[in-house]
Amino acid sequence: MDSVRMTAARAAGLIRSGDLKSAEYLDAFLKAISDREREVGAFLTIDRAAAMRAAEETDRSASAGKARGRLCGVPVAVKDNICTAGMRTTCGSRILENFIPFYDAHVVKRIREEGGIVLGKTNMDEFAMGSSTENSALGVTRNPRDLSRVPGGSSGGSAAAVAAGMAPLALGSETGGSVRQPASLCGVVGLKPTYGRVSRYGLVAFASSLDQIGPLAACVEDAALLLGVTAGRDSKDSTSSEEEVPDYAASLDDPICGLRLGVPREYLGECLKGDGRDSFDRAVGLFRDMGAEIVDVSLPHTRYVISTYCIIATAEASSNLARYDGMRYGLRTGEDDLEDLVSSSRTDGFGPEVKRRIILGTFVLGSGYYDAFYLKARKARTLIREDFSKAFGESRLDAMLTPASPVPAFRFGEKAGNPLEMYLCDVFTAAVNLAGNCAISVPSFPAPASPPLPLGLQIIGDAFREQVILRIARAFEKAMEAKS
Ligand code: GLN
Repeated sequence: MDSVRMTAARAAGLIRSGDLKSAEYLDAFLKAISDREREVGAFLTIDRAAAMRAAEETDRSASAGKARGRLCGVPVAVKDNICTAGMRTTCGSRILENFIPFYDAHVVKRIREEGGIVLGKTNMDEFAMGSSTENSALGVTRNPRDLSRVPGGSSGGSAAAVAAGMAPLALGSETGGSVRQPASLCGVVGLKPTYGRVSRYGLVAFASSLDQIGPLAACVEDAALLLGVTAGRDSKDSTSSEEEVPDYAASLDDPICGLRLGVPREYLGECLKGDGRDSFDRAVGLFRDMGAEIVDVSLPHTRYVISTYCIIATAEASSNLARYDGMRYGLRTGEDDLEDLVSSSRTDGFGPEVKRRIILGTFVLGSGYYDAFYLKARKARTLIREDFSKAFGESRLDAMLTPASPVPAFRFGEKAGNPLEMYLCDVFTAAVNLAGNCAISVPSFPAPASPPLPLGLQIIGDAFREQVILRIARAFEKAMEAKS
């Protein structure tokens, strides 16, 4: 049995019934880690022994007929900004390099309750700020499909772990595209849930009005499984929604014939050229062949997305990151007096991109500039959100189709020197974070290269319509499989 290729949903079922040993299933991933982790560098922490103990415990329960849970005996990799009790949670930063939380994030608790096993913590851009994982202060992650290229970011470690077969499932976090963009670049599935769908309790905050935790997986069915486990109301996060969590797996294979899929014309402009455009056009063609109705729609405020995102995300980050003061937890340097302690700890602990964002965020919130930048960005955000609700409502859309990333995986250093170019990686994803609805990236036609470079198709849904986008993504995945 090729465990690494089996879906996690199926593996959990077999482990529950005792037809597959969790230890054996885990071992397949540990072997992939031994083979590939040295070159890929997806993880910051791996606890093989604890994972194996948990797997053996699961197997004992299974023999006694007592194994349960939708993730029964399945290992999960967790992005390193999601708290794990007793396991280091660094955010890819020097300032939290030795931080060990004493509690589990809600999503981690849910994974354990459903029988899942936390395999380790994955590398990321420092405090989730970046699109290539090059901003990690603690290590380099390479794209498993082409080691000379970045895995995307900021959840680059999670995407790379899944793409390299080192974990069947992973959690990432999204503020402006950090699950969908690395999923696109590594050729895996990544979903950003609706704002409020998944509790952020225990997620280290970057920009609280945008942050969401999302699943990464090798196939749509497994992304649906992990979303189902993590979604739902949590009294510890007041922004989490009461909205009922549907059974995402139940409708996954329903036909999509007759669904109305919008293509926003603003996304087909100058940002989308060459291979990215070809891949997208072919994907749209495939949906036409499947009997979906393709509808031209407009999101007129698209050109304000990146600047609006930059202002809101940095403003909130500058406030959220004020807690790293060298006193309560994290790195402490400097001794002379209070001011020296705080400024020295922050100077030594934060990397250049984080400092840039804190400075920008402080600037846009400054009393003389608040109206000109922050307030204006809030207004632009309302317009961007209205674009989506109008398009979904007036055009009676089931979903929208866009590319997930304007370009496939790029080489190390190619964009690192130019922050603006790096920010433009989010052109197709950040609007969804600002509007608060949901979207998924699913592997599409790759860019021709040697080896071919993955490109993701993004399927955007209205708020709390994860079920619909998962179903559309599943239909697309099947159509792609039939082609290869
Ligand atoms: N790449 C974006 C940024 O740098 C998005 C990051 C994210 O979603 N966490 O801010």
